[in-house]
Amino acid sequence: FMSPMFVPGPVDVATDVLQQQAKAMLPHRSKDFEAIFQRCIDKSRQIFFTESRVFIMTNSGSGAQEACVRNLAREKVLSCVNGACSNRWFTVATANGKQASKIEVPMGQGITPAMVAEALAQDSYELITIVHNETSTGVMNPVREIAEVVHQVSPDTLIAVDAVSSLSGARIEMDAWGIDALFTSSQKCLALPPGLALCAVNERAMERAKSVPNRGWYFDFVLLEKHRNKDSTPMTPAMSLIFALDYQLDRILAEGLDNRFARHSAMAQRSTQWAGAKGWPLLAPEGFRSQTLTVVTNPPEFDCADFNKFLAGRNMRLANGYGDLKGKTFRIAHMGEIQMSDLENLLAAFDEYLPTKGL
Ligand SMILES: *Cc1c(COP(=O)(O)O)cnc(C)c1O
Repeated sequence: FMSPMFVPGPVDVATDVLQQQAKAMLPHRSKDFEAIFQRCIDKSRQIFFTESRVFIMTNSGSGAQEACVRNLAREKVLSCVNGACSNRWFTVATANGKQASKIEVPMGQGITPAMVAEALAQDSYELITIVHNETSTGVMNPVREIAEVVHQVSPDTLIAVDAVSSLSGARIEMDAWGIDALFTSSQKCLALPPGLALCAVNERAMERAKSVPNRGWYFDFVLLEKHRNKDSTPMTPAMSLIFALDYQLDRILAEGLDNRFARHSAMAQRSTQWAGAKGWPLLAPEGFRSQTLTVVTNPPEFDCADFNKFLAGRNMRLANGYGDLKGKTFRIAHMGEIQMSDLENLLAAFDEYLPTKGL
């Protein structure tokens, strides 16, 4: 990339992927478009590790959060909250009239299976919402272990997982882990322009949806399923983005999922090792560290905005901390198209800049 952006979305999109969006439109109820739509679903299943349906939705990730709470619970939702993205989901549930309760820990910490077991032992919930990779803090929650505990303690509770900033950069096995609904959106780890969400929904979750009144229309899983089987979507889909998705899924599968996970993991390790050598602690405790973004605690003398001015001369950009963590942390997003060589360029720029500030 001419100017790699180490920001957690929208991320850089490869030029040939961008160009797919310039293709001529097709009628959306045509055999030609349906073929593209269906093969996008088939390829998506591979990155979700699922045999279930994947809905390709014209909306960002927050729309998929809304779809899950509207379809999967009549009333009672348990939201695991450890940062801004997971708190968004709680807000979305409440805004949709659900009775949402929180398991909440401070930003920078993770949700443990024990916390979930305790909450589920105290009350019953139709749905639990978990963000896999909390993009505001670089904390990766142990979704597999949490799902295990939900299955044991409260088998009827559906499990919905937001993997917006991690799916395709970290292994998340929907079927094997027993996740009922799992989604991502286009502009983060998938390295596409913003505007699409991919949401995989299993049979159990579809059955639940049928029993929930007032699912709305735009996000109704039952209606989406009817059209998915017939002719793509009930509404007009974002066709140009789907052309880009079709192409990008081929690129992702050509890289190989294991290679892709290993690339992200290696960049996380390198960032961790670099921060460790500086004596700058990571925000996330060990065992809860993201594979797609590393959030570093910096001394007060480090000014991320000033460093970004320096980086602009080198055509790079870094993300400041989120919300209250701005100025105290910075976020190295190493997801999507970012390669180790890009990361090395960023770290070299740090090593050049910091001594000029006496750091
Ligand atoms: C960015 C993000 C969202 C919000 O997604 P939009 O596509 O901006 O609506 C939700 N969850 C996570 C984990 C995110 O990183």
